[in-house]
Amino acid sequence: MPPPPPPTPDAPPIVPPERSFRLPLVDPDQTRAVLLLYHAFGVGRERLSVSTRDFAAHLGVLTEGNAELVTTTELVEFLEGRRRLPARVVVLTIDDGMSSVYTRAWPLLRDRGARFTLGVPTGLVGLRSRAGSNMSWEQLRELVDTGLCEIASHGHLHRRLPSLNASRRAEELELSRQLIARELGRAPVAYFYPLGAHDTRTEPYVRAAGYRGAFVASGAPVALGSSSLLAVPRTSVFYGDSASLVAHYASDGFLGRVRARPERLAFTAGSAAR
Ligand SMILES: [Zn+2]
Repeated sequence: MPPPPPPTPDAPPIVPPERSFRLPLVDPDQTRAVLLLYHAFGVGRERLSVSTRDFAAHLGVLTEGNAELVTTTELVEFLEGRRRLPARVVVLTIDDGMSSVYTRAWPLLRDRGARFTLGVPTGLVGLRSRAGSNMSWEQLRELVDTGLCEIASHGHLHRRLPSLNASRRAEELELSRQLIARELGRAPVAYFYPLGAHDTRTEPYVRAAGYRGAFVASGAPVALGSSSLLAVPRTSVFYGDSASLVAHYASDGFLGRVRARPERLAFTAGSAAR
């Protein structure tokens, strides 16, 4: 009797696109991505605040240029080996859920039909602090209901994950996830580490809480297999950053710095398996 054929590894199912993309889809090892990280809008000259004028110019580049805006979930599915995307993609992420997102950025995002993800610290929703006021659940719901806005967990009280004990860590990872699911009807796919604070020791807890992707702020482009799905880099945008800098982030000059490593896909996707 001939020996049985070697087992074929389980190929992950490909997710069919539920929407059309402006640019053609390519083979997964040809796609390069950048996740841009914003915080506040039009709040003086603070380093983490971008003026509405600059943001409008950034959005012009991102919606009309050679890169396509995709959602965080679409990027995670791509990194899991389950989805094809265009050659150059950008994910727009905005952390902290500040009110200036709603009052200043949202009208521009809506006019452009731009997809984006808000990283929300659930324990701060609706609160006012010295740093400003935070969006309410009602406002978040309004954005999510348009289909343009996805919500990621940004912790519960925006604490540095690696330094927490078990019960506080559970609040940051599990409670925040439950609150988003309860208030907005859908559990978040992604965790945005508050303050970018991450170490490999905490990754198993992030995975166990149900997140399929987790994101740091180390400032680098992304390709298939280029990083762990639990430490995907984002690139910060600061006060005064020009539209040409944003165009650079979305161009081959920046995106070409990372190499696809599809041979690591089993490792990276496996690390996100639930
Ligand atoms: Zn933050």
